[in-house]
Amino acid sequence: MKYMTAEPFRIKMVEPITRSTKAQRQQWLQEAGYNAFRLKSEQVYIDCITDSGTSAMSQAQWSAMMMGDEAYAGCRSFYRLEASVQDIFGMPYVQPTHQGRAADYIMTQIYCRPGAYAIGNMHFDTFRGNAEMMGCLPVDYAIAEGMDTASAPHPFKGNIDLNKMQSLIDEKGAENICVCIITITCNNNGGQPVSMQNIREVSALCKKYNIPVVLDSARLAENAYFIKTREPGYENKSIKEITNEMFSYCETATMSSKKDGLVNIGGLFVTRNKSVYEQANQLAIVHEGFITYGGMSGRDMEALAVGLQEACDFDYLDYRIKQVAYLGEKLKERGVPIIEPTGGHGVYVDGRRFFPQIPQSEFPSQRLVCALYEEAGVRAVEIGACAFGSIDKITGEPVYPAIEAMRIAINRRVYTNNHMDVIANALGDIYENRDQYRGMKIVHQGSIQSLRHFTAGFELL
Ligand SMILES: *Cc1c(COP(=O)(O)O)cnc(C)c1O
Repeated sequence: MKYMTAEPFRIKMVEPITRSTKAQRQQWLQEAGYNAFRLKSEQVYIDCITDSGTSAMSQAQWSAMMMGDEAYAGCRSFYRLEASVQDIFGMPYVQPTHQGRAADYIMTQIYCRPGAYAIGNMHFDTFRGNAEMMGCLPVDYAIAEGMDTASAPHPFKGNIDLNKMQSLIDEKGAENICVCIITITCNNNGGQPVSMQNIREVSALCKKYNIPVVLDSARLAENAYFIKTREPGYENKSIKEITNEMFSYCETATMSSKKDGLVNIGGLFVTRNKSVYEQANQLAIVHEGFITYGGMSGRDMEALAVGLQEACDFDYLDYRIKQVAYLGEKLKERGVPIIEPTGGHGVYVDGRRFFPQIPQSEFPSQRLVCALYEEAGVRAVEIGACAFGSIDKITGEPVYPAIEAMRIAINRRVYTNNHMDVIANALGDIYENRDQYRGMKIVHQGSIQSLRHFTAGFELL
């Protein structure tokens, strides 16, 4: 395989992207309230705001779409999807949903209750939003290395700290902990993986206290790749053997198929518990659609059935993870501070180390998102004081998150390494001029605190 290090596909259809001037981008940014979510896609040159729903589909997926069976009940496409999911998850019951957050909603309705704790490594924002609306209390117990953007490289920064779990159980009583959700990979701290050993140990601890375990598995194939390449004992196992073992330690899994499903829409609620499945069916019928489509069209289920299999292909994953690492290396060459090692779906730049002059209360990572867009038309996203800041329920004071970063999410099979070079050069140049930048303030935000980043408006200070 010597020499064969380029992208493992050739391009059959192209989508033009627009170039623009800095003056245009400054105006667009101002019109968008300095919030990248409010920019139009056509105002963006390289779009790294998310890896969600942005994958390029393969010829096999596009041709599968033509086979979509759009029957309301019992369609062929559902059974194809079900078989593909069972193959990878090793669990019998599959309820499709229109997106991951609908699976989050169903899961929250089944497992959570007001006033009870939901343990996790770092909960995803859409689960947090669901928990917040219900009054359930999410707690983030990633290991210390995973909570610090400047910590030395560690192979599994997504792991859960078992001591913290045990202390909460001792302090609050196991009956007040409703669920433990392991997010693989852990998005909020860098797309960092969770080791098989940690999943096994967390599951054993939960079993002892009768706490159900859920895997939030949007990036299940990327997590499996890291287990195969970093965890002793797994180097000769296939990706699917690894995914099957991962899910053997949980009762239920939720998935946003917009990530490792390699499709543009869809979600899954998968379980081994028949009564949980029956509850999920009822919730799906009210909120999503009938059991055998749950908010997806037949053609979308066909594309997902194929995409899940492609995502578990080792050659694809090897290209995928190495492209992310490539961008990380280029940034390090320019001195840009990032979370190390790079994770599965993006490079995370440390906002505090990048702009030490901007306090967390003035959104250093959001400032960096604006600077990168202004300089190069590259759209990234803030994962810091805006997205994860909360309000202390007793004092009413703002609480700042441990992670303060800008995520450069890499779309699957979409951009080449030339695009990675553009991003690295632009950020390297901004880093050289970092002293010139000041912070920002929020001028308005929506009512659900944990989802305010999607709509907030900012001003430059
Ligand atoms: C994307 C994502 C979700 C939400 O899924 P949507 O498809 O965007 O609704 C939930 N959990 C994780 C880990 C995710 O990455």
